[in-house]
Amino acid sequence: MTKAILVLNTGSSSLKFSVFEYDTASDLHLIAKGQVEGIGNAPHFLAKDHHGQILADEYWQDAASIDHAHCLLAIANLLRTKYLGIKLLGVGHRVVHGGMHYSAPILLTPGIINALDALSPLAPLHQPHNVAAIRAVAKAMPEMPQIACFDTAFHRSQSEINQLFGLPYSCFERGIRRYGFHGLSYEYVSSVLQQQEPEVAAGKVVIAHLGNGASMCAIQNGQSVASSMGFTALDGLMMGTRAGRLDAGVVLYLQQQEQLDVRQVEELLYKRSGLLGLSGISSDMRVLLASQEPHAQLAIDYFVHRISSELGSLAASMGGLDALVFSAGIGENSAIIRQKVCEQAQWLGIELDHQANKAGEQCISSMNSPTSVWMIPSNEELMIARHTRKQLGL
Ligand code: ADP
Repeated sequence: MTKAILVLNTGSSSLKFSVFEYDTASDLHLIAKGQVEGIGNAPHFLAKDHHGQILADEYWQDAASIDHAHCLLAIANLLRTKYLGIKLLGVGHRVVHGGMHYSAPILLTPGIINALDALSPLAPLHQPHNVAAIRAVAKAMPEMPQIACFDTAFHRSQSEINQLFGLPYSCFERGIRRYGFHGLSYEYVSSVLQQQEPEVAAGKVVIAHLGNGASMCAIQNGQSVASSMGFTALDGLMMGTRAGRLDAGVVLYLQQQEQLDVRQVEELLYKRSGLLGLSGISSDMRVLLASQEPHAQLAIDYFVHRISSELGSLAASMGGLDALVFSAGIGENSAIIRQKVCEQAQWLGIELDHQANKAGEQCISSMNSPTSVWMIPSNEELMIARHTRKQLGL
């Protein structure tokens, strides 16, 4: 009988899942993954096994009736029919916000689920959907242990200084502080570095998680020291459609002088800014790199510029830099973006090995580079599955 852990990553209009086989003798093995995209609009269920063979590819009608519960049922049915006799040991959830108190993965109880729901105002675009999926599992499979793994948890090792804003201290006490995100990705990449290059991992490391959402994290001795993302996932680097660092006065100006209401500002900052907003073409880095339009180039240049400035700031927070690691969609796949970032970071002792970079090798700095550079693919799902296994005592 196959024993497995189900990992869920729920967004506003998507539910991604991965299924890992549990085997006492070894690490967890991915056996299937997939997603429902377009929830609420035009739902599309796609699932593949670990060889990339399609297990399901369905466009669902009656979009209005498709919620997380419906998606879960479809996933459970798929697992039952494609993996006869499969036994789910537990469900691990990516939960975006753990607030001030949840600094580690946790076995969910009704009380904790309510507490996570209460954190929704801190991450209104993500947290309610994370909680909805947890409740849907609890309803469909009441006996199933569920583990919440937080994107913010990895950063709770940061000093108070690195979590502060220059606001009245009472704001900090009320929870208006820098939380940091992408923690599961940093934890995974950092664990790979620790396993494969322990000497590097023991030093001052910056990991650049450059996906659609993008952030950077300073890590010393495997612990988060500072992060480019702050109170929400809007801060720091410019992203696919998010503005990144912004003078708060701009928000006031948009509201007071241009009469945008709160929803319009939110939409502008989260959905219409970033690579998309600056280029006017696309939020997809591949499209911009292939484009001859001057604004596509401008967007790429500003993206790289923001990474360079955050790199300087994060190196300052550790008093130096021993290694830079690229990860996530852009960081893993774009040799040209890695090259541009490294060119601007020569002052930090970075010297790229161009051939290794183009070949996408793990170590991409030259032999003589005082600061080493790495490319390590992220795997947040595996990190969640590992935490889930640990919390289940397996
Ligand atoms: P997220 O998980 O945050 O949605 P990903 O980590 O999947 O995002 O990254 C998506 C980004 O990676 C997109 O901007 C996409 O264009 C970019 N990307 C993927 N492959 C490449 C590539 N070969 N070259 C440049 N960018 C790429």
